[in-house]
Amino acid sequence: MAIITGYETHDVRFPTSLSGDGTDAMNTECDYSSAYVSLFTDSDLVGHGMTFTIGRGNEIVCAAIKEVARRLLNKDIETLFADMGKAWDHILADPQLRWIGPEKGVIHIASGAVNNALWDMYAKARKKPLWKLVVDMSPEEIVRSTAFRYISDAITREEAVAMLKAKEATKAEREAKVREVGYPAYVTSAGWLGYSDEKIARLTREAVAAGFNHFKMKVGADRDADLRRGKIIRSVIDNPQHLPPGMKPRDPESPALKGKNAGPTGCVLMIDANQVWDVPQAIEYVKSLEEIKPWFIEEPTAPDDVLGHAAIRKALLPHGIGVATGEHAHNRIIFKQLLQANAIDVCQIDSCRLAGVSEVLAVLLMAAKFGVPVCPHAGGVGLCEYVIHLSLIDYIAVSGTMERNVLEFVDHLHEHFLHPCSINAQGRYNVPTSSDEGYSIEMHKSSIATYEFPNGTFWKENKLQSKYA
Ligand SMILES: [Mg+2]
Repeated sequence: MAIITGYETHDVRFPTSLSGDGTDAMNTECDYSSAYVSLFTDSDLVGHGMTFTIGRGNEIVCAAIKEVARRLLNKDIETLFADMGKAWDHILADPQLRWIGPEKGVIHIASGAVNNALWDMYAKARKKPLWKLVVDMSPEEIVRSTAFRYISDAITREEAVAMLKAKEATKAEREAKVREVGYPAYVTSAGWLGYSDEKIARLTREAVAAGFNHFKMKVGADRDADLRRGKIIRSVIDNPQHLPPGMKPRDPESPALKGKNAGPTGCVLMIDANQVWDVPQAIEYVKSLEEIKPWFIEEPTAPDDVLGHAAIRKALLPHGIGVATGEHAHNRIIFKQLLQANAIDVCQIDSCRLAGVSEVLAVLLMAAKFGVPVCPHAGGVGLCEYVIHLSLIDYIAVSGTMERNVLEFVDHLHEHFLHPCSINAQGRYNVPTSSDEGYSIEMHKSSIATYEFPNGTFWKENKLQSKYA
């Protein structure tokens, strides 16, 4: 028996705006930040969690995390672990905190940080990585752990259990396979708006040489520049001479690539507008980029606009360009509607905009039922560490496929984590295997001491507190 006895938050900010990393049409100056929480018990067990922001306001999220974490004080951890769905309901159920959501904005991402910390603690208590904890659960236990409120018109608990049961017998096979080959990934690092043409070409060549075959470019600030940059990327990825030595071009008509506008080498380009357009503008702009043959446009418009996404998808369908969204879809209900309205080709969950693993499970189940592949959003700080776990749960226990999925990878800031994610020589995520890594989100104490805002050594020594405050 152990009891949750306390919690601690840290406002950790990395000065990424100094390098132009992470720039897109909407977010022009990002200091990748973590609103970080540790939950303590009266044993040695500690759970770590975080949510992601891009700088200012991270302290507001930390303040909200304290309010939410307080709800877990004096709770018996085994009682929480025994029904993680109920634990999720409890975390979200404070009537006064609910008013400042409900289930959206600061209070919701704060709830995500706390829920993730509880899942991290649960996985560590069982000495398994988070994904393994979940895939080893029975179908009933997975469904019991899911945030199920408000989604039964899309999927019932009984349907979810039946779906999971249908995949149960072959879980071990899929686990063995993904441990061997890794989980498919794609890179965004080459295509930030802040980079020069030369840097884009060089980073794209490096990514092809590293084995990647899906690439994403930011668009939406300048159409002519987008077309030019898109052509540069296509000229690199479609040229077989850039493939790693010994790698043959992939077949664009194979089941993994069909319908993705893959070029002759089997490479795929995606574009991401980060919500800059109105609906008619999105349709016209993306049509004008048809020449660079994107698989999908990501976040073409406001993230809550379910019917807008549906209209864009319908208009782009004859042009062979799909629609993806989800990194700013603030809860499972938005995803439910996106799926019900046939508004998306690709479902991009975010590990800590949704309120933690329990709510993510709800979206994985719905997406599997609607037959839409889940390709989680990542990058930032900590997101890649988190999402590999979620994609493994999706592949092994829920959807049963990773053939058409790709998981975002950005090679930034992994060195700050005790168990950083990693990529194999084929450009795929390695499977986290350490029995003590939980949800892989624990940060080095030295990184926190250096980058905690505003009093960490980096911010103090460089006298940047006021500039970035
Ligand atoms: Mg995006």
